[in-house]
Amino acid sequence: MTALLDHIKHQIRANGPMRIDDYMATCLLHPKHGYYTTRDPLGAQGDFITAPEISQMFGELIGLSLAQTWVDQGSPDRFTLAELGPGRGTLMADILRATKGVAGFADAAHLVLVEASPTLRDIQRTTLEGVSVTWADRTDALPDQPLYLVANEFFDALPIRQFVRSGRGWRERQVGLQDDTLVFGLGPVLPQPSLADRIEDTQDGDLVEDCAQIAPLLHPIATRIATHGGAALIMDYGDWRTLGDTFQALRAHQQIDPLASPGDCDLTAHVDFEKLALAAAPARYSRVTPQGVFLERLGITQRAQSLAGSLRDGALEAHIAAHRRLTHPSEMGNLFKVMGLFPPTQTPPPGLEP
Ligand code: SAH
Repeated sequence: MTALLDHIKHQIRANGPMRIDDYMATCLLHPKHGYYTTRDPLGAQGDFITAPEISQMFGELIGLSLAQTWVDQGSPDRFTLAELGPGRGTLMADILRATKGVAGFADAAHLVLVEASPTLRDIQRTTLEGVSVTWADRTDALPDQPLYLVANEFFDALPIRQFVRSGRGWRERQVGLQDDTLVFGLGPVLPQPSLADRIEDTQDGDLVEDCAQIAPLLHPIATRIATHGGAALIMDYGDWRTLGDTFQALRAHQQIDPLASPGDCDLTAHVDFEKLALAAAPARYSRVTPQGVFLERLGITQRAQSLAGSLRDGALEAHIAAHRRLTHPSEMGNLFKVMGLFPPTQTPPPGLEP
């Protein structure tokens, strides 16, 4: 992807070192050469694999949690069923299949997919053939009505900035050029009012990350849920208040240098769930729950046993491995977390606690 590398070098020569959020946004979503813009990155042949691509059980249980929430909230007769960053559309297809038996749910749902990549929109259209779908670029375009929303491995793709503590100020980590090669460097010491709350829990030299897009993205979702009803289930890897460098690049399932191959590898950072919680008002947020615990509470073991009945040999082994991969603490069970948003007067979706 030399065209994108040339573009980034040109930008740096013209404007000086580039912030990491600008570098990430350019690499992932450049309209012509961006990583997501130009390809389907998922699956065994791709660069990474996600929970819905590992097993249908993931989307089925999430669908049932959302549908139960819809029933508990009085089955509103018109609502938005939305997903942020739907990838191949697999999670939404599993949600729709699993909720077919919930009377009235599909008829009341208006499907909206928030997706930036034209290539992935095409794949989603194929996966969800026969279903009426609207695509949106932004969450403020979501209709003003009850909203049931999922986002899996979406927030980790949002551009972050990185800051290294220096006294009571911060030096921003940036991408510069040395001998025509991209390198990380540090900007001057500056105050950062948005990091005021990180002065107590950091020391000189510590690195913290900030994601400015979380609040404007989540606010329209939280207002719709608080005003009209609904819920959101957000799954991602990360934790409450992250500390240290979590900026990473994946190509062909291997971790590589995030500056080595702009536009040709996935770039992510851990999600700071505290930032999601801070942006959740006027909705309420649930406790951050490990994915393994969440799926166990929703009955993944029973579902796995029932599916296993019709499988033999290699298919059975793959199914058992997928169950383990989604839930085991040493695989995705602990690294991935779930947070729910729900109306102030209601309880969180099944699987989560207030
Ligand atoms: N949720 C899917 C895919 C995760 S990959 C799964 O679990 O398999 C991240 C997804 O978010 C891709 O579909 C990507 O194109 C989309 N995406 C990344 N940044 C985005 C943005 N700013 N706005 C909308 N979609 C975005």
